Amino acid sequence: MFRLIIHYGIHFIVPVLIAFIFFKEKKLKTLLILLAGMSIDLDHLLATPIFDANRCSIGFHPLHSYLAIIIYCTLPFFRSTRILGLGLIIHIIADIVDCLLI
Ligand SMILES: [Zn+2]
Repeated sequence: MFRLIIHYGIHFIVPVLIAFIFFKEKKLKTLLILLAGMSIDLDHLLATPIFDANRCSIGFHPLHSYLAIIIYCTLPFFRSTRILGLGLIIHIIADIVDCLLI
């Protein structure tokens, strides 16, 4: 239960805090872009079973591969992909913390 709260806390509460604290004028748009980082979990559909609570996503699913993570880390350096990159990095951090708590 603790693991679940930490995992989804990072997935949802951190984007809300970042959008409301650092992007006050565009908080809703920023929040939606940050939450769009969740969409990389669509790669779970390629795995069998789709959801396994004891599986670490990092390095297993294609959009959670180390190469993908390196690409996500470059996105904040470009103005047009800055917030999306931030959302993807938050997602990866949430998944890494989840892996550490397995
Ligand atoms: Zn994930």
